[in-house]
Amino acid sequence: MLTAAVVLHAFDYLESSRILKLVTRDAGVRSVLARGARRSKKRFGSALDLYAQGTAELQIKPGRELDTLTSFDVTRARPQLAADLARFTGASAIAELTLRFARDAADPGLFDAVVHALDAIAVAAPDRARDVTLAGAWRVLAELGVAPTIDSCAECHAGIESGEPAMFSHPAGGVVCARCGHLARGGRTLPPSARAALRDWLNGDSHPLADPADVRAHQRLLREFVREHLADERPLRAFAVWERDEWTGGAA
Ligand SMILES: [Zn+2]
Repeated sequence: MLTAAVVLHAFDYLESSRILKLVTRDAGVRSVLARGARRSKKRFGSALDLYAQGTAELQIKPGRELDTLTSFDVTRARPQLAADLARFTGASAIAELTLRFARDAADPGLFDAVVHALDAIAVAAPDRARDVTLAGAWRVLAELGVAPTIDSCAECHAGIESGEPAMFSHPAGGVVCARCGHLARGGRTLPPSARAALRDWLNGDSHPLADPADVRAHQRLLREFVREHLADERPLRAFAVWERDEWTGGAA
């Protein structure tokens, strides 16, 4: 089959091949073997590099863990993602969320969310890469079916004024009204500004965060939400590197 695809993970295999993890438009997340990829520039284009996008030709055999990648026609390489560490760690976090939680079935909405996230991170100024990554990650989660509520109570569906702080309950799946908040276990109070950021991101709009403390609070909220809703105890290593800002020296 031919499908649009983005490389989210890549490593060398044996002498001349590569194994890639792709998110595809028509077949979900796939692990593929690119036989001879390090020799044949003709079949696989100039780059089977991380975050390259193009048209992949896959041979899928039922019951096999690895598909065969017959050709990959690269249309967008995104070298900008490797040129800046904040961009690179952000893109890695998006890739990890996608590979961990997406399924091997067609999901055009998820594919588009990943493409938009990587494109936005690729052109983000270094001091914007984190909030642009937050925006992309929330859109990916929404496509995975776990978007939080922002303007109505996740328990009783009562409307919640946008100018008010609101309790955010991870188990409930979003903000909760004052009445339901009394019953919720372990919530955080979100100020109106934090709700506005989430609202914009989930709508696909940008919402710059100027204060590093706001970035950290949003990263923590996202991490807790992922843990609650995607029910997977394995550590998210790339997410942790992105959150701790290790490679950029921000944690020193
Ligand atoms: Zn309620």
